[in-house]
Amino acid sequence: MVRDATEAAIRAVLNEKDFLNELDDKIGDGDHGLNMARGAQAAHEALAELDEEAGLKEVLQAVGEAITANVGGSAGPLYGAAFSEAARVVDEDCALDAATLEKIFTAMVAEIQKRGNADRGDKTMLDVLIPIRDSFAAENCAGKSFEDILTQARDAARDGLEFTKTIAARKGRAASIGDKSIGCEDPGAASSLIIFRALCAVWKDSLRE
Ligand SMILES: [Mg+2]
Repeated sequence: MVRDATEAAIRAVLNEKDFLNELDDKIGDGDHGLNMARGAQAAHEALAELDEEAGLKEVLQAVGEAITANVGGSAGPLYGAAFSEAARVVDEDCALDAATLEKIFTAMVAEIQKRGNADRGDKTMLDVLIPIRDSFAAENCAGKSFEDILTQARDAARDGLEFTKTIAARKGRAASIGDKSIGCEDPGAASSLIIFRALCAVWKDSLRE
């Protein structure tokens, strides 16, 4: 299931390549879709090399290494480092549940914050990833089914992307145009939502099997 979900996220990124380029064209240099597609292709090839039985930790590690080795731009190296850090913190045979996802997103957010020196409200991928992380916090999951928890996280991610439309960029290339970036979605936040939405769709389907 980890592999199916990862492949679905890879396909989603490849499908949205032009859309992500267009978003980046408005407030950046127009290459976010291209960079993400390059990372998705590299991740796809890395997965093909993995054992059939590879678990979450190995998949995260392979994806992180593939992205780091193949993707430039600003977001690429951040995603690569974030996946590698997530691989480092999860247990070898962990279950896919809210506690594991909280661990993963906490590690990813911390790594991106450390490298990008950004926070929520700067109009970056963190405006999607921090709400996802917070959705998986124990106090926000008590008494809810895993399916409801995924829906809650996906909705928070979508709201996070909407939020990036309303604010001016303070980090990255878009910061140079300041208030002119208001009204545009952040491309990195958009790619984070695209990936997370694809993962959630597969995880939810698997709950019904
Ligand atoms: Mg760019």
